[in-house]
Amino acid sequence: MSLPPHPQAESVLEAKAPAFTTQEAAEIAQRAFGIKASAHPLDSERDQNFRLRTQGEREWVLKIANPAEDPAVLDFQTRALLHITQVDPGLAVPHLKTTLDGTHSHEVDGRDGRRFIARVLSFLPGELLDDANPSPVLRRHVGAMAARLARALRGFFHPAARHELLWDLMQAPGLRSRTHHIEESVRRRVVEDVFDHFDAEVLPQLRSLRAQIIHNDVSCKNTLVEGDRVIGAIDFGDLIHAPLVCDLAVPISELIFETDDPIAAAAEIAAGYHAVTAFSDDELRVVFDLVCTRCAMNLAIARWRAGDHPENTEYIMEDIDEYWTLLQQMREWGPDLVHTRIRHACSIPVLDCVARDASEDDLQSLLERRLQRLGPGLSLTYDQPLHVVRGEGVWLIDAAGRAFLDAYNNVPQVGHCHPTVVAALAQQAATLNTNTRYLYESVLRYADRLTATMPGDLSVCMFVCSGSEANDLAWRLAKAHTGNAGAVVIENAYHGTTDAVYELSPAEQGEGRPLARHVATVPAPDGYRGQFRREDPQYADHYASCMDDAIASLRARGFAPAAFYLDLILSSSGILVPPPGYLPAVFEKVRAAGGLCVADEVQSGFGRTGDHFWGFAAHGVIPDIVTLGKPIGNGHSMAVVVTTPAIMKSLNDESEFFSTTGGNPVACSVGLAVLDVLEQEKLQERAARVGAHLRSQLETLADRHPLNGDVRGAGLFIGVELVRDRTTLEPATAQTHAVANRMRDAGVLVGIDGPHANVLKIRPPLVFNETHAQQLTDAFDHSLRAI
Ligand code: PMP
Repeated sequence: MSLPPHPQAESVLEAKAPAFTTQEAAEIAQRAFGIKASAHPLDSERDQNFRLRTQGEREWVLKIANPAEDPAVLDFQTRALLHITQVDPGLAVPHLKTTLDGTHSHEVDGRDGRRFIARVLSFLPGELLDDANPSPVLRRHVGAMAARLARALRGFFHPAARHELLWDLMQAPGLRSRTHHIEESVRRRVVEDVFDHFDAEVLPQLRSLRAQIIHNDVSCKNTLVEGDRVIGAIDFGDLIHAPLVCDLAVPISELIFETDDPIAAAAEIAAGYHAVTAFSDDELRVVFDLVCTRCAMNLAIARWRAGDHPENTEYIMEDIDEYWTLLQQMREWGPDLVHTRIRHACSIPVLDCVARDASEDDLQSLLERRLQRLGPGLSLTYDQPLHVVRGEGVWLIDAAGRAFLDAYNNVPQVGHCHPTVVAALAQQAATLNTNTRYLYESVLRYADRLTATMPGDLSVCMFVCSGSEANDLAWRLAKAHTGNAGAVVIENAYHGTTDAVYELSPAEQGEGRPLARHVATVPAPDGYRGQFRREDPQYADHYASCMDDAIASLRARGFAPAAFYLDLILSSSGILVPPPGYLPAVFEKVRAAGGLCVADEVQSGFGRTGDHFWGFAAHGVIPDIVTLGKPIGNGHSMAVVVTTPAIMKSLNDESEFFSTTGGNPVACSVGLAVLDVLEQEKLQERAARVGAHLRSQLETLADRHPLNGDVRGAGLFIGVELVRDRTTLEPATAQTHAVANRMRDAGVLVGIDGPHANVLKIRPPLVFNETHAQQLTDAFDHSLRAI
């Protein structure tokens, strides 16, 4: 929209504010408005305001507008105020007093020969928000007040509504030509960056959002409060037609300084607004940029105006350092975190949040109920357990609204609550969910897509619901196909919970409990602390030759191997990438003894290891059976066994295999959506890139922290082994526990694994990016310093 003509050559910020004396002000009030009162000056950025006190103690405000103000704009403001009082009479805004001749403004000549427009408004009582100490409840009310004003203005328009206004976010790029007033070069560059980004990326988005006339200045100096309530809004000088969401940027950029958790404070304001007028996600997504831009505007305008108005410098420059600090903080947090938390706050019913002070009580009661109903055997992660209420992308959000960077959960492979996956799940659940004894497309489409990623004859699928079931079924397949009954597993392996695979999971079995007679183990190929080390060029072969001993030991007990199981990232052994050459050698030995090779990809599959979609693919081998679970459904229970037709037939010849909910249409739709997102968002490539970056960042900390013994892994499955002594490799078990808990307190979630519980386990959703990697590295660094 083009701007209406503006008769004044000078802008309102450039023109000197009016300079009437208190005596002259009192005379104007009496002559034009019939108010006999004493006048007392009030602060103003560009106009001149007086508080008028009558003998009967009635109070008014005389506003003498800046002479450069376009009369059409003043008319716009006057009519907007009249409209608000008509539409929402209960809203505490100033009421216009009519002049003695029945209009709402009066023209007055100044001593300097300029003409001014004077108006009188009722004085609203209350404490300025600026002088209050805002609580979460008050912040919500501020947001709600802004929204209520906007709602009252929704049906109003005026030809001057889109006038030239420095404080209009949509006109922010115009301030680019003023940035040279910012003397500090670092600040100047950041402010210029913000304006450039706004111009190129944000403005196009804003143009597609709903717009209307908004107050645009619900700020600390324009909001009146009493205790936790907002009791009035004043100053309609920045009214403008703009995207509605711009109305949020002012209170957020002003009200979150010096709070313990500024994003939580911003989220409170947004939630208060949202409770009156709901924002769409597209609108919430731009709040981050709007707040950054508003901070940049404050920095640019203040510097420029301070030069022109030395007499008003103190008022103009007030808070300038806070805006700078906030802008820096915002850039550190990044749009992702800010958007997630604001969105989260907006999705919670208002009353829940207002009553949130009681949530610690809640934690205690949850702990007690959990103990009663789930028993004491199921431990919780972290000394201070997390009460999570929502997930989004790489974030988990607790009941108090705090967001934690989730660097632990590999089940939500494509990010918590990914909208594509959620939509696929919801749509299919609302259409059809049944079992694999009926004909339906999705199970076949899923099987096609999955087997297309597998080499060789791995072309048939059997659907179950958990990784444990998949490994259990693999065990039945292996026994049926080979006629053997022995198993070889890694010393500290974990493969699941069923009776059969529990026997194949030494990691789970209590110390001293002998393994079942049909199970033999081989040491994990650990090149850091194992029997054979990386320095030895033959170490992979040495580990592989241990397979001969395991097979011999089985034979001595009357068993031949049906299967060798291998978790391709050896998670429970401390996160190890099998060394090159190891897999071909052991697979050959197992097969020579009549056994099958089972690749357990429950942890390592679906692109997590970066360079390959499947962990085994890095080793030039083709397993006989591949088991999949966990990330396959991004959290939805689903698992698959992929094998060859010949192996499947061996089991089918013995009995039919059918799992009631395995491969149901909902699971298959979810599985397809996960594959789509992995592909569309190039998450395997991202795992390779971000994982390599994160590993190198963590490695650099080894120089500073002797505890940081070894950083290893593949893609976004990373282990950091902590040792008390780099020569003896004494495990730093207690310190690992302390670090993981300190990182949790710092807002970053990692886990612990390995036979000595001294390996930090890092395996975030694959939407993890370089900024998240930095946040994790910083938290790790600080936690190591603190213990
Ligand atoms: N295999 C491996 C390598 C695992 O890590 C797990 C679970 N952590 C399983 C199998 C069992 O999966 P689920 O808990 O889904 O049954």
